[in-house]
Amino acid sequence: MTDPDEAADRRLDANAAAGPLAELFTVDLTVAVATCAGCGNDAPLAAHLLYADAPALVVRCPNCAGVVLRYASSGSTLRLDLTGARLLTVTLAADGSVGISERQPHRPP
Ligand SMILES: [Zn+2]
Repeated sequence: MTDPDEAADRRLDANAAAGPLAELFTVDLTVAVATCAGCGNDAPLAAHLLYADAPALVVRCPNCAGVVLRYASSGSTLRLDLTGARLLTVTLAADGSVGISERQPHRPP
């Protein structure tokens, strides 16, 4: 069990996460591998199923059709729901960059 005093010594204000999170949210997330919270399937986000005609963008797992991600933009508010994603993994190139997708949008069969 963690000593409460030791845990308090390690704790930071979450504003300290701004720098590391800025690395994640400046990349093309369609190249990220999403792990479905429902079935555990790993697939690039671009290989998931997108429903763009709902009030929010809804991204579903290509294996079980569970909702992996929802994103809504309304006026000055952006909302991202990743409840259905157990993990998002972005692999950086040796130079720290992320490959930008040049794929064209397509409709899955
Ligand atoms: Zn799934």
